[in-house]
Amino acid sequence: MKNSPDPPGLPGSSPNIARALKMETGGVTRRSRSAGLLQPLEDPLVDATAFDQTMRLRTEDILARCTSCGVCAEVCPMPAPAGLDTASPQALTAGILGLLRGTPHAGASRWAEVCSGTGHCIPACPHGVNPRSMLALARVATQAAIPLSDRRQTGFTRFGAMTKGVRVLSRLQLPPDMLARFADHQEPEPEVVFYTGCNVLKTPHIALLALDIMDAMGIRYQVMGGPSACCGVLQFGAGDLPTAGRVAGRTIDRLAAAAPRALSWCPTCQVQLTEVAAAPGRDSGLDMVPFVRFLAEHLDVLRPLLRRRVEKRVGLHEHPGNPGVPEAAKAILCAIPGLDFVDLEQPRVGYMCNKLAPLPAFKQDLHRNQLQAAAAAGVTALAGIYHACHRELCSHERDWPFEVVNFLELVGESMDLHRPDLFKRLKIMQDVDAILADSAPAIVSSGLDIDEARDVILRDMLGEQPLPLRS
Ligand code: SF4
Ligand code: SF4
Repeated sequence: MKNSPDPPGLPGSSPNIARALKMETGGVTRRSRSAGLLQPLEDPLVDATAFDQTMRLRTEDILARCTSCGVCAEVCPMPAPAGLDTASPQALTAGILGLLRGTPHAGASRWAEVCSGTGHCIPACPHGVNPRSMLALARVATQAAIPLSDRRQTGFTRFGAMTKGVRVLSRLQLPPDMLARFADHQEPEPEVVFYTGCNVLKTPHIALLALDIMDAMGIRYQVMGGPSACCGVLQFGAGDLPTAGRVAGRTIDRLAAAAPRALSWCPTCQVQLTEVAAAPGRDSGLDMVPFVRFLAEHLDVLRPLLRRRVEKRVGLHEHPGNPGVPEAAKAILCAIPGLDFVDLEQPRVGYMCNKLAPLPAFKQDLHRNQLQAAAAAGVTALAGIYHACHRELCSHERDWPFEVVNFLELVGESMDLHRPDLFKRLKIMQDVDAILADSAPAIVSSGLDIDEARDVILRDMLGEQPLPLRS
């Protein structure tokens, strides 16, 4: 069914996407992938990159299927906290289709901006549209008027800041021999490739525990990740589709070649590589599943290794964006002898805390309510699943009568696997000079520049505190 005529301009294409493509080619020159030379481009439709084509096809498919019924906006948890008019979800979804066609719509733009990836909308759509992807494309469409060179610069700047943060924080916490465990080694016939993504190395104890647990389970794995195997989400978010596509495509190929199955740690990478970058109707060859779900699938192997009793009352900090992950984490925690699991019954929103950044007051409320619910339930540990949530929540341990941990720490405790959470210990100091003094040996031995370390600690450690500490 097609509920709208093809827009004028490029046949079978939205004018906004066409305009974005034209700007990407600059109407002047672009490096030809086949010739490897800078060549003038006359027709962006003919010479569009594969990723551009994928995005264009997906946009056309959405425009053909979506009836603006509004069901996705109705089930979405974000319009209300964003202050959008929830009385007419149809108007919001019609606005999104307008954005894809190049027509501005303030409310729809705001909805696309605050989409946190919760994913309630995906099974709700009666017409087989993935509204999460639809909003991602709408975000790109709203940037069509920005020259590609500026979008590319924004992507590079964000990527540079991210790699600097990962490099400094990982070296502050791990010596080179430990960091080498995350280097891209070839393993003989790995069963799986463990894809770290980039940012988990800011809290490296979490990634180390994941490897330790797989070692104990006898899983043959290869590790891949870091900036050289990026998922492309920063470039995509900046609207630089050619770079996002090139980066994601290369990573998909490398992951697919490394092992029959890839295990993702980060929900952003999982969505970007399997949902956003995947060409519709075409098999990328990548079988990627969240690591936490993989662990739960192999609970029969893991359970006998959970030997030690962990006498803790545990609440889970959950995000639903990657389906099945909170349930898998709960199943694993409930398999730990002695552990008393408590459902904190909090709203489940987004796929990681950092996706809630466009609504800071909403996020503060969620964090405050989560901490209060944990205290009221008498937990001794509040366990998160993802690294970004841990960075934002861990220092609250100072002010509350329970510890704030990653759930793998509890799994490790039951297996006699311990990796100290240096990130939390440093962050709780809440003083950049004290953190630098404590980290002096690591700064010297890893050759870090002290001013750079100071900048990163201020921005990526102390600066990531959505809900201020209580004192
Ligand atoms: S993914 Fe979530 S936040 Fe985004 S549109 Fe769907 S329900 Fe709303
Ligand atoms: S994406 Fe699906 S649920 Fe949302 S408005 Fe379109 S048809 Fe309805």
